[in-house]
Amino acid sequence: MRVLVGASTDVGRDRERNEDGFLTLEPLFAVADGMGGHRGGAVASRVALEVLGQMEGDSMSGDGVADGLAEMVTRANDAVLERASEEPRLSGMGTTLTAVVVQSGKIHLAHVGDSRAYLLRDGNLRQLTEDHSLVQRMVKEGKLTPQEAEIHPHRSVLTRALGVEPDLQVDKEAVEARTGDRILLCSDGLTTMVPEEEIRQIVAEHDDPQQAADALVSAANQAGGVDNITAVLLYMVDDAQAPDDRTSARPGERAAGAGTRIPPEAAEPVPSTTGRVDRAQRPRKRRRPLRIVAWVVVLAALLGAAFMGARAYAYSQWYVGVQDGRVALFQGMPIEILGYELHRAVEVTDLPAARAMELGPWRDLDQGITAESEQEALAIIATIRQDLAEAERPNDVAGAGSG
Ligand code: MG
Repeated sequence: MRVLVGASTDVGRDRERNEDGFLTLEPLFAVADGMGGHRGGAVASRVALEVLGQMEGDSMSGDGVADGLAEMVTRANDAVLERASEEPRLSGMGTTLTAVVVQSGKIHLAHVGDSRAYLLRDGNLRQLTEDHSLVQRMVKEGKLTPQEAEIHPHRSVLTRALGVEPDLQVDKEAVEARTGDRILLCSDGLTTMVPEEEIRQIVAEHDDPQQAADALVSAANQAGGVDNITAVLLYMVDDAQAPDDRTSARPGERAAGAGTRIPPEAAEPVPSTTGRVDRAQRPRKRRRPLRIVAWVVVLAALLGAAFMGARAYAYSQWYVGVQDGRVALFQGMPIEILGYELHRAVEVTDLPAARAMELGPWRDLDQGITAESEQEALAIIATIRQDLAEAERPNDVAGAGSG
């Protein structure tokens, strides 16, 4: 049996940048969906995929594949956490990671977050992974139907992701691979836009995995494309089938780079020293005071405009943080510029912040947990409330965030 591979990723129609990424390093395949402000999402998914891509060929054969794969996800988590601690502006970044190794007639899976793996077999599409999301937890608890979950405004809130806490629980699974099986790895930008029945049809009707991946991405864009979209397709075929297909790779062959799309390193502004150098080299000229005043006014106006712009942007953001020792909803960003705080507490809850911070997922509450909307911030507060209630309950494992 061999694997034919197709992969496609797209920024979508709504987002400024693509924070999704994928890895196709036969026999290792993965999708990551990054999140977090200040380009953090793209950094998180890139770091995670880079670490995963270092998985040794030796550990991808034999019985220990599942453990080896989960170990790589744990290492990727450590790397994302480390990077965030090195760069404070990236704090709070995270990423999903759904990875498979196809080896010895088996599909080994490791999974964290709300990206998904599906198996199309005998015309039926089966989800192999379980979303680590707030709505999935509510479905399991009987508080939501799966149909309600699909359109729930808080469906992007995760209960588990890389980059949140050092002690990461990784889902593992192994499925026997059969000739004819089609595996789809995808980010939520596909599954929130395209109904499963349509995904099933698209995968079933395309015999070329690259065409299937492209068709899935365009279906998500046609449906609105509100998020980044990524689809990786693996078709299990006979050894004899399509030997010259350029999208195929032989088992054990690690065609690094060929089909890999890891988000590029975010462009950093390079601190310029040319001004200083020029001034030292240039002969001094007498300047008229009026001109200096004019320049100062222009400079002040520019700085003022930049500040007002930054302030307006900041106040379009939401996060959950701490006010007077309580969990609170904030509008703005958890930072200050030149002594001006770019946020205000909109609602202070009755939840004790210190207790919440004793629970793993809310460890960094005092640094602010950023949300994509007010709704999402409120959902985070609801989750904290629930986790606190669960932790208080006797005879119960205080495993908040473990689904
Ligand atoms: Mg997404």
